[in-house]
Amino acid sequence: MIRQACLFLALAACAMPNPISADAPQTAAEQSQGARTSTVAEVQQFLAQLPPLPKGERLHLATFGKTHEGRDMTLVIAANPPLGSAAEVLASGKLRLLVNANIHAGEVEGKEAVQMILREIALGQHEELLRHAVLLFVPVYNADGNERFDRANRATQNGPEQGVGTRANAQELDLNRDFLKVEAPETRALLGLMNAFDPHLFMDLHTTNGSYHGYHLTYSPSLSTNVDADIDRFARRSFLPSVRQQMEQAHGFRTLDYGNFTDTDPREWVTYDHRPRFGTNYMGLRNRLSVLSEAYSYVDFPTRISATRAFVLTVLAQAVKDRDSIRNLLATADAKTAAGAWTFGHDSMLSDATTQDVLVGSVQEMELPDDLGVRRIADGQYQSVSMATRLAFDSRQQNPPPLGWLLRQPSQEMRDLLAWHGVESEVWSQQVQGQLEVFEVSACHREEILFQGHFELKLEGQWRATEEAAPMDALWIPAHQALGRVAAQLLDPLSEDSASTWDRLEGWEDAQTGKTVPFLLRIRH
Ligand SMILES: [Zn+2]
Repeated sequence: MIRQACLFLALAACAMPNPISADAPQTAAEQSQGARTSTVAEVQQFLAQLPPLPKGERLHLATFGKTHEGRDMTLVIAANPPLGSAAEVLASGKLRLLVNANIHAGEVEGKEAVQMILREIALGQHEELLRHAVLLFVPVYNADGNERFDRANRATQNGPEQGVGTRANAQELDLNRDFLKVEAPETRALLGLMNAFDPHLFMDLHTTNGSYHGYHLTYSPSLSTNVDADIDRFARRSFLPSVRQQMEQAHGFRTLDYGNFTDTDPREWVTYDHRPRFGTNYMGLRNRLSVLSEAYSYVDFPTRISATRAFVLTVLAQAVKDRDSIRNLLATADAKTAAGAWTFGHDSMLSDATTQDVLVGSVQEMELPDDLGVRRIADGQYQSVSMATRLAFDSRQQNPPPLGWLLRQPSQEMRDLLAWHGVESEVWSQQVQGQLEVFEVSACHREEILFQGHFELKLEGQWRATEEAAPMDALWIPAHQALGRVAAQLLDPLSEDSASTWDRLEGWEDAQTGKTVPFLLRIRH
């Protein structure tokens, strides 16, 4: 076991990228040769040492919210010339790219890689990125989880030796299941950033401890079936394949679309989930590009940091290269959504398979002391196997949006939820003419297992015309707005991740008839 530990450290020392001058600050991971990851205080100290560097003025540090336990949530705006507010960033006319690290605080490479990239910017590197883009970095999103270091957290992960934080935040919420229901202050703060800065691209940095494969890092675009078709095509057929090629050619890192092997015979390589409770899926609903990054947990920690750093820089560089296409695509998607020229899908399933070569890897196991379990270490062996891959979802039902929805007696909770998402709403004053419809529930399914504090609800049923008058105290949420897809996801009763999934949109029982009066109505042409 001692010999294996030494081997690990030797690999770690070899893999540190870009040696830096002695007077530039070093991350906790660099100082410890990969044995440690940074605390929140260490990240703050590191960031505080960047302004005196030759181009340190290009970094502007801001607080964009507070965690559940009251920690400051730090945003770093990197721009040349320097910019300090959302208004200035928007007025610059540059591409806006947001990188979020440490949402799962046991998955810490992003936090280390982002610090290194910020140091490089402060040393005058990445000029070309800053010529065309403003870079927004959140180095420690789940700051409360980060401080709950324990060597037992993600013990199977190949380092850092001295432990990592927890997956959940201090409310025991998984922040990467919170993007639709928005129960964590961290999510509210991040949606606030999205609303204020309106980034063209969102990256979320993770680490996967799933199947044994042969890649340094796997990635995914938004998997929502409700992403604008042109954005989806661009991400899958142009943007990510270019990134993949660059990762191999310029950095020597093997990457592929995120997936896991099935235990079927023959095995397949299958992606994860399309629902927008996941951040990168959600950002697609906003008509923005998004990229999930999943470093491979069984590769040593310094190599994972290097791969994540390279991936972030490669994605940012590709976005800058494609900036005209990206601007056009997103603006067109916003305009189409606001004009109601889209469909909303539900009843989704994995798409048909395509055959592809996938690298199948293997690991060695190392018993850890103190009953911590087994660490898994990629052994460097892998073989290419041709197999079916399923990397997308399709909705079997696709319907055009209504003109909008009406919420009877809207709760403050629903008003807040819509506002956090940036969805426009207003008091109903008969501003739209059309057929009023009510949703008739034919079946209700409750999950039996508690998930994130809820027994999720799934509704079946259909809309039917009603002759009743639209209630005058209702809240009107137009579907024809740039965030119409987000509104549909929240409000459509058939949506696969909606306000009703999370108990925010139930009706009430009428005392006279004993029937449930639904909160929700809609208006169609
Ligand atoms: Zn994760």
